[in-house]
Amino acid sequence: GVRQLIVVTPTYNRVLQGYFLSRLSQVLRLTKPPVLWVVVEYNAASMETSEILRRSGVMYRLLVCTKNSTNVKDRGVHQRNTALEHIGRHKLDGIVYFADDDNIYSLELFESLREIRRFGTWPVAMLAQSKNKAILEGPVCNGSQVIGWHTNEKSKRLRRFHVDMSGFAFNSTILWDPKRWLRPMSDSIRQLDSVKEGFQETTFIEQVVEDETQMEGIPNECLRVMNWHLHLESHNLAYPSGWFLQKNLDVI
Ligand code: UDP
Repeated sequence: GVRQLIVVTPTYNRVLQGYFLSRLSQVLRLTKPPVLWVVVEYNAASMETSEILRRSGVMYRLLVCTKNSTNVKDRGVHQRNTALEHIGRHKLDGIVYFADDDNIYSLELFESLREIRRFGTWPVAMLAQSKNKAILEGPVCNGSQVIGWHTNEKSKRLRRFHVDMSGFAFNSTILWDPKRWLRPMSDSIRQLDSVKEGFQETTFIEQVVEDETQMEGIPNECLRVMNWHLHLESHNLAYPSGWFLQKNLDVI
């Protein structure tokens, strides 16, 4: 049978949420089933998210993360951990992928995830901060073997693996492999909660693989860009006076 994809998306209510979730739902809808979309909100499930998921035509679960956090950056992390706990508790079988709501994904990416046996990684394109350039972050490959990393010099010496959150996926069986994932699972998840920004990915990956030899670079040679991590954010909306609209711009 076709491998199940478990796509984990932390999300929160803001102006562009409807646009982001609709865009992601459409590419997931075009991906061959089975796809399980695990969407995690913070504090409470919102009407807007429930509605988008309901009409997406994608199989989904909407979870709520209730862990207290004042730091907005940490919230996404706690939300991903809520999803991991759910996957572990219910032993959901498939390839787990962290897909933030605001990134841009090709259909080819989701199809390629099914090639992964244990742990797969690939280069992600992003815009360099303060430079008007697109840069890559992720593996340099020889065939499917990872032989090096594209990175930006700022963090070169510090991080073990130069992978974006949206640049890797893994087999969920790793989560219940006692040799890999530190036991008990809730402890290793808690440990991830306190990782400093920019180190989330590498800290996570260091727990699921030993080194590059246990990684598969996809697609072969890692020469294609399958997703973009851009920063398109708008926190406030300006309405013409006298108009009343919801906080979240809906997309139908
Ligand atoms: N996120 C969230 N709650 C928050 C902050 C972020 O659910 O309070 C989600 C957000 O919707 C996205 C992911 O976490 O799916 C990454 O957030 P962000 O885009 O702010 O991170 P960046 O792209 O800057 O790394």
